[in-house]
Amino acid sequence: MALLEVRAVRKVFGGIVALRDVDMTVSEGEIHGLIGPNGAGKTTLFNVLSGNYLPASGQILFAGRDLAASRAHERVKYGIARTFQNIRLFKSMSVADNIKTGFHGMTRTGWLTAIFMPVRAFKEERLVTAEAAKLLERLNLTWAADEPAVNLSYGDQRRVEIARALAARPRLLLLDEPAAGLNETEVGVLEHLIRGIRGAGITIVLVEHDMRLLMSVADRVTVLAHGQRIAQGIPEEIRLNTRVINEYLGGVPA
Ligand code: ATP
Repeated sequence: MALLEVRAVRKVFGGIVALRDVDMTVSEGEIHGLIGPNGAGKTTLFNVLSGNYLPASGQILFAGRDLAASRAHERVKYGIARTFQNIRLFKSMSVADNIKTGFHGMTRTGWLTAIFMPVRAFKEERLVTAEAAKLLERLNLTWAADEPAVNLSYGDQRRVEIARALAARPRLLLLDEPAAGLNETEVGVLEHLIRGIRGAGITIVLVEHDMRLLMSVADRVTVLAHGQRIAQGIPEEIRLNTRVINEYLGGVPA
């Protein structure tokens, strides 16, 4: 069953058509790779999916509901979470507190509740702290809970960002170049984590330039070039696709 159906999505910046009526179908439970040369429109598509940008036209059907006009915080509530190409952690905040910000929007406690219903606010805070601790444990990051995020290695910071996205309990996780800047060992840890997240029933769309990683974890792949979808299929098909080889892989099969 399709969890996400992108239909004829178009995004224009001034005179640049960044997405030209793009279609993409992501099945529930799959890891879906999204690749293409620099400037192909991958990040723009992520921004349109997460609600950071609204498309000029087209539909974004998520579990059957068209979210194209909804804002980012609403999409999180519907079950879409993401990470960013450039790590966006609160550097001086502790790792645990960074993860707790991922629950924001899922809890009911605003400042009014905190003032007028302190018991409810206290209970919610305790729940969020316990959930953050569970996530840290699952990612083998318990040791880092009280460390300022900036003290962690690049690879661990990436994992904290993923943990923060998971805190929103998404059905769909959008990972934007999670392997960028990681060494080989860290990529191995990341690969294990991505498989584990899917194993927990979460559908993933993965933008990644590391072809070994992407082709090894993805069930299906969509390829964009110049804002257009040029191919969609299983990794074996994509590897052999002449257009993909010429327009993305520099003439050399992956
Ligand atoms: P990369 O692999 O380099 O991250 P990408 O596939 O993610 O590339 P996008 O960043 O989505 O590509 O860019 C697609 C096109 O849209 C490019 O021509 C880019 O210059 C343009 N673009 C993206 N964001 C904006 C923006 N905020 N304002 C104007 N143009 C933009």
